[in-house]
Amino acid sequence: MSIVLDPWGHIAIENYERLLVEFGIRPIDEVLNSYIINHKYFTRRVIFGHRDFNQWLNAYQSGGKVAVLTGLMPSGDPHLGTAMVYEELRFFQEKGVFVKMAIADAEAYAVRREDRDSVVKKGLDFIAHALAWGINPDNAEFYYQTSMDSSYYRLIQLFSRKVSEAEMKAIYGDLSPAKIMAALTQAADILHLQLDEYGGFKYVLVPVGVDQDPHLRLTRDLADRFENELALKRPASIYHKLLRGLDGGKMSKSRPEYAIHLTDPPDLAEKKLMNALTGGRATAEEQRRLGGEPWKCIVFELYTYHLASDENELREVYNDCVSGRVLCGQCKRRAAEKLRALLVEHQKRYYDFRNNVEKYVEKPSF
Ligand code: SF4
Repeated sequence: MSIVLDPWGHIAIENYERLLVEFGIRPIDEVLNSYIINHKYFTRRVIFGHRDFNQWLNAYQSGGKVAVLTGLMPSGDPHLGTAMVYEELRFFQEKGVFVKMAIADAEAYAVRREDRDSVVKKGLDFIAHALAWGINPDNAEFYYQTSMDSSYYRLIQLFSRKVSEAEMKAIYGDLSPAKIMAALTQAADILHLQLDEYGGFKYVLVPVGVDQDPHLRLTRDLADRFENELALKRPASIYHKLLRGLDGGKMSKSRPEYAIHLTDPPDLAEKKLMNALTGGRATAEEQRRLGGEPWKCIVFELYTYHLASDENELREVYNDCVSGRVLCGQCKRRAAEKLRALLVEHQKRYYDFRNNVEKYVEKPSF
């Protein structure tokens, strides 16, 4: 059975290798020789695939005009999965790249049927968390979709002329008018930076969870169709694996009990982590004898994505687990302490930014 990626769904992905084959996503290994690729997400293959990232890197390395853009839908509360996007933006910004973050409020309003005021408020929250995570506002821009001007909206109208319902269904599966609007708006998000009015960046990289690949496929096709008319180029993209929920399903804003949110009180977050699914054996005796199975374990995933700062530390956790030297209780307590430290630090910065976040973005006026 073929896989359908649903950017609005809540399904955990089990086989990333298969996505490479099925959708023609390129393995990240083929670009890892570039000197700028020195972030743990690359070395640990958390970012596992790309489209045209090599071309973007060539442009970056030869001094071309490059930018990074991604978008977040302001529904629910930001969690450790959302933080992966912040982390990627922060990394590229440290390399001197301009980054732009869309608050997909039109999408939240139409697809999730969220209340207008709450969408705007949550958008501010997502921005405050991005700043707290370390994104420097001096070389970044945040915007709400509904605050954009006519040239951005003109793109959506133009795109709608050159895509058929059958193509949309082939990419997205089930569709509603709201989802069609949201998909075309996302294409405008990704491509508007190439317009002169928005800086004329011709090499745009989109770092996203792999469930967002349908938007990239649509957008790349649209860029081809408007190459002559608007001088658009295909965007590049990199894909990270999705941090699973604490029960092994997708970590989703709509399943708060299985996610660690960036504003969870540290005691609650620790408690959630201590109850997470692990790769431990049925008994302590069995685990000492056979070792644990970190590849099944959510706690090990948290070490990999956020908690282990260097490779030696991650290797030690892995070796302690598979050798049976350390049992899950001890391993989880160590992870919980690290999680607490991360949240305490982040929340201090977040509450500072939360008080003055409005100066970093223009709020929608309707
Ligand atoms: S020892 Fe740690 S890494 Fe291994 S299964 Fe248990 S919690 Fe997971």
